[in-house]
Amino acid sequence: MDTPNIVFILLGGNIEPRLKFMAEARLEVEQNVGKLLASSAIYESESWGFNSDANFINQVLKVRTVMKVNDILQTAMEIENKLGRVRNDNGKYASRTMDVDILYFNSEIIDEENLTVPHPRLHLRRFTLLPLVEIAPDFIHPLLKKSNEELLQLCGDKGNVQRLD
Ligand code: AMP
Repeated sequence: MDTPNIVFILLGGNIEPRLKFMAEARLEVEQNVGKLLASSAIYESESWGFNSDANFINQVLKVRTVMKVNDILQTAMEIENKLGRVRNDNGKYASRTMDVDILYFNSEIIDEENLTVPHPRLHLRRFTLLPLVEIAPDFIHPLLKKSNEELLQLCGDKGNVQRLD
């Protein structure tokens, strides 16, 4: 039997209906990736790196799966494509509404052309670290050798991130 893997996935989006897209993406992960072992609350933050009126929401999922990491990436992109594109009135696709990122895959370090794990910006963003710390405070980042909780304490991002309840 294939050994199960543990993958942490970040969902994010800022186009309404944000919560509906998020719930659909979570369901797609359960149906196409594996068993949901834990799921953080949903956190809201101001957009990072560019100006936008629409705040983002993010959620981290911990999933047990027999899939290989490249297949998870492929599935993540399919979920983004399925959910993440809404048509404008002119029939053209608007910006992507759902982002599905792989944060950790077991404690593996992967550096391929199209896949970097742990996610290279995971430790730089409070909107990733806060939900991650909620469900996996003691998990050690295999490259930085620090727990998620320590990474949050060290994180210089002062962005406002609020838990939605
Ligand atoms: P993004 O615009 O952030 O969704 O970037 C998607 C692209 O990032 C895809 O083409 C992936 O091949 C690449 N990528 C590299 N590392 C990762 C990762 N850890 N999780 C998701 N996508 C990744």
